[in-house]
Amino acid sequence: MDLFSFSRLTLFDTCKRRFAYKYVEKFPDPPGSPAVLGKTVHRAYDLYSNGYLFEDAIVTAYLEEGDSTVERSIVESMLTTAIGYKYTGTVEHHFIMQLTDKIKIQGYIDLQPDNTSIPMIVDWKTGFKTYGIFDSWQLPLYAAAVMEKTGDKVIKGVYAFLRFKRIESGIITQNEAFQAIQWAIRTAEEVQSRLELLTVLKIPEAFPARPSPACGNCPWSLLCLRESKGGLDCG
Ligand code: SF4
Repeated sequence: MDLFSFSRLTLFDTCKRRFAYKYVEKFPDPPGSPAVLGKTVHRAYDLYSNGYLFEDAIVTAYLEEGDSTVERSIVESMLTTAIGYKYTGTVEHHFIMQLTDKIKIQGYIDLQPDNTSIPMIVDWKTGFKTYGIFDSWQLPLYAAAVMEKTGDKVIKGVYAFLRFKRIESGIITQNEAFQAIQWAIRTAEEVQSRLELLTVLKIPEAFPARPSPACGNCPWSLLCLRESKGGLDCG
């Protein structure tokens, strides 16, 4: 494994066993309703930015990404909020950044506005929680990719929490971008070391379960419970 993403590395940090279910054993992981909503809203914004009328963007996004769990009024409200920020620019920009000989990281930047006074990256959030831009390495890592490409020394990172009509933002410097890269390399190298251990260890030994409140949305919690012989304490 040499290609990583922020979400893949974060899953490994959260619970190594869950990471192995998904990426080593490759068990199916159908998206839950929060993920379906997120995909639908992102797609609707993408379409609108590419010239679709509001109504057409909603309907097409629904057909492509939505399902019956997603309330249309919520998608409309979130798209209206996103449009209300009046950003224009590159949508869903895919990047791949080489971090070491054996490690690359990829990601999708929801929006890189071209009508702001300083370089900016925006990530749309559709969930029920808000947090700051330095509470995870996501935006510093994405900023590192932009800095590498453009030579910019500071990037404004923005989380737009569409459910709450609220923005969290901050200035990401080269220092934070560097720290994010170091975290990604460290974590990816640990993944690779544990994969090598599979020649002598079983998967649950090399990738042990780590019960936490995150077990609540783990698709493999029953399987994990069976493996641990009923001894999970998810806090
Ligand atoms: S149930 Fe909890 S401990 Fe088990 S794999 Fe899922 S997140 Fe990890």
